[in-house]
Amino acid sequence: MIQITSPLNFLGSMYRDIRQALVDMDDMFDLLEQPAEVRDRPGAEPLEVTGGEIVFDRVEFGYDPERPILKGLSFRVAPGQTVAIVGSTGAGKSTIGRLIFRFYDVTGGAIRIDGQDLRDVAQESLHARIGVVPQDTVLFNDTIGYNIGYGRDGATQAEIEGAARAARIHDFIASLPQGYDTQVGERGLKLSGGEKQRVGIARTLLKDPPILLLDEATSALDTATEASIQEELRAMGRGRSVIVIAHRLSTVADADRIVVLEDGRLVEEGSHDALLARGGRYAELWSRQSLDEELAA
Ligand code: ATP
Repeated sequence: MIQITSPLNFLGSMYRDIRQALVDMDDMFDLLEQPAEVRDRPGAEPLEVTGGEIVFDRVEFGYDPERPILKGLSFRVAPGQTVAIVGSTGAGKSTIGRLIFRFYDVTGGAIRIDGQDLRDVAQESLHARIGVVPQDTVLFNDTIGYNIGYGRDGATQAEIEGAARAARIHDFIASLPQGYDTQVGERGLKLSGGEKQRVGIARTLLKDPPILLLDEATSALDTATEASIQEELRAMGRGRSVIVIAHRLSTVADADRIVVLEDGRLVEEGSHDALLARGGRYAELWSRQSLDEELAA
């Protein structure tokens, strides 16, 4: 019996491994919604990031040519600045993130990083220089050490631990009986939303990209964890250009600049205080959200 069931069990578990790996990859592509349609031009050069200036210059884009989503959108992220994109549901915030990663090409205008049109650069180099902390960090069915080290090929154990310390997850990992060798994911230890987020931060710290794209991530966390994660994200943003795709307003108040998007157009832009003083769309969104939060409390 053993001789018969063992290989079957083995095949069964191999099948599950493969299926799970595919599910993981699927999640990741879902998350980033990668259509893989964009091709490099022949002889495309690698992106050279000097300061990290990001410019949207009258960008036009629609997933479907019949239905424009971004309608002549212009804004600039100066080197080292944090710019938050806010706006109501469907305004086009996540689309901006996908375009910076060049999952799609713009249909009009241009996006430039340090003067280079994204359509002219090799995608691989673009992906290497932009760090993304997504809403929900995907964990591989592997050790927690592997999951952090994934941020950079060939990272040493000391570097992995350094990144985990900076993301304030090292102490938690060290307290586990198997430490960095603890299996996580579907069949291993389940991490909380905040722990997963910290793994994502540690991964990105290892990658050390000059440009960061944060898909605001904290909606599923309790207030204390959220505040602490925000601190880690802020620390990670120092010395880098950061675009925050913000689905909630409470976390963007200290961005250098806030871009308010409405129906694919920029309707207001400025600091939190300036926008509140202006009493326009942002002030309206802010008071509505504050009211929602009060009601929820
Ligand atoms: P939310 O805050 O609700 O996430 P958002 O501002 O991030 O909204 P986007 O995700 O950028 O909005 O979507 C902008 C518009 O583009 C929406 O009307 C959406 O239906 C459409 N859209 C998004 N992704 C696709 C896609 N892959 N194919 C076709 N249309 C899409």
